[in-house]
Amino acid sequence: MKILCIGRNYVDHIKELENEVSGDPVVFLKPETALLRNGNPFYIPDFADEFHYEVELLVKINKLGKNIEPEFAHRYYDEIGIGIDFTARDLQNKLRNKGLPWEKCKAFDSSAAVSEFVPKSVYPDINNINFHLDVNGETRQKGNSSMMIYKIDTIVSHLSKYFTLKIGDIIFTGTPAGVGPVKIDDRLQLFIEDELMLDFMIK
Ligand code: MG
Repeated sequence: MKILCIGRNYVDHIKELENEVSGDPVVFLKPETALLRNGNPFYIPDFADEFHYEVELLVKINKLGKNIEPEFAHRYYDEIGIGIDFTARDLQNKLRNKGLPWEKCKAFDSSAAVSEFVPKSVYPDINNINFHLDVNGETRQKGNSSMMIYKIDTIVSHLSKYFTLKIGDIIFTGTPAGVGPVKIDDRLQLFIEDELMLDFMIK
């Protein structure tokens, strides 16, 4: 499986990092070795100084697809989850300033924390799902899928132009404002609506 990620998909987050709204979705990948599951702790790596949380809604692909039209995209996923796109922010800034690829700052081991997945039918409207991240019991990030610049069906369609989507692939759909650094002993709790979906520690 592979992990496909969308960057800069919420206007308020683009502003906080002083990026520009791009005319096309920003896309990057993480390998399977990036997965962090089952509420296992995230061990802060030593190759950078500042690791940020980015809470994001996840979509799991359930059907092989290529060149999917947006109106048919909903047939290619039936589960939703939530996760953290861990980012070595200081390293990302260095790489970006040099025009270099993002893998070292985005695709490292355990950089993709994921919850269990639930059927999308649980949610009345896929484009109106609330989610939030609490760090040590305090809400740090809050989003709703209606605030996405590129909605889920558009993302699925766009990605499938470049990458064959396979069963089990996971899409990170971008983060809202409020990203920030993690430190040892932080507790991260991720919610969809009011349901606690993932609860883990930083070590
Ligand atoms: Mg992200």
